[in-house]
Amino acid sequence: MAGHPPKPPKQPPKTPKKQWSIDDFEIGKPLGKGKFGRVYLAREVKSKYIVALKVIFKVQIEKYRLFHQLRREMEIQTSLRHPNVLRLYGWFHDDERIFLILEYAHGGELYKELRKTHHFSERQAATYIASLAQALAYCHEKHVIHRDIKPENLLLDHEGRLKIADFGWSVQSRSKRHTMCGTLDYLAPEMVENKAHDYSVDNWTLGVLCYEFLYGVPPFEAESQSDTFRRIMKVDLSFPSTPEVSAEAKNLISQLLVKDSSKRLSLQKIMEHPWIVETADPMGICPN
Ligand code: AMP
Repeated sequence: MAGHPPKPPKQPPKTPKKQWSIDDFEIGKPLGKGKFGRVYLAREVKSKYIVALKVIFKVQIEKYRLFHQLRREMEIQTSLRHPNVLRLYGWFHDDERIFLILEYAHGGELYKELRKTHHFSERQAATYIASLAQALAYCHEKHVIHRDIKPENLLLDHEGRLKIADFGWSVQSRSKRHTMCGTLDYLAPEMVENKAHDYSVDNWTLGVLCYEFLYGVPPFEAESQSDTFRRIMKVDLSFPSTPEVSAEAKNLISQLLVKDSSKRLSLQKIMEHPWIVETADPMGICPN
């Protein structure tokens, strides 16, 4: 009986993704401690590639019921490829721990640099804001709103290039969001009021960060949370006389800290703003 020859597969079989394990890495010095675990310098044995290995204990994740959020964070971060977004190369787990294989940011936390020097130079501030605007434009294109951009979530690589890390609060969304989240000082008025919000919350945050980079403190800082809320709602913005900051920088901040989210400067317009064009390092590199 003449049979039909087997049909060739339409696509070549997918090679399974590499299953990493802790034996693939030599563990080095601890780099830091976060809410849910520790981060170590590590080297992949075969390639000798240096990475940061984040170790998260499953019991912690279970305690706070954060499996969903962590999975979302990992999925979002692995899909993003931008020079100013920290790469997540992969992850694996054993019985007790989850390991995230991260790009190593040799310069550490931007926040620590800011506390050390109290405030940044205009060149540094403009370079970081330009890098953030570029990274956020890329994220927004992919329908990712970060919503938790603050100095603690920003790392620096060995050249002083800014890297957005920690996508714990980010959401992949095409519609307006309703959840209240983020950190108080960096919250846009519509988030303080628990109203629907969209991509423009990140633009507000860029205004807050630009102010903090230049003055060393966030613009709506107050003794109590309720006072900060009130100051944000009123957009109670003032520029101290010291340190001296250029009128162009203040102009950019004033165009971002606008209550009506539709009137905030767009990311494209931030990149074209004269202060950014004239002051930022075009390579996004800012050694201290
Ligand atoms: P986290 O758990 O993400 O808050 O990280 C805790 C600390 O580890 C941070 O404050 C950083 O100082 C350090 N760290 C985290 N990720 C990295 C990384 N990819 N490269 C270098 N240091 C890191």
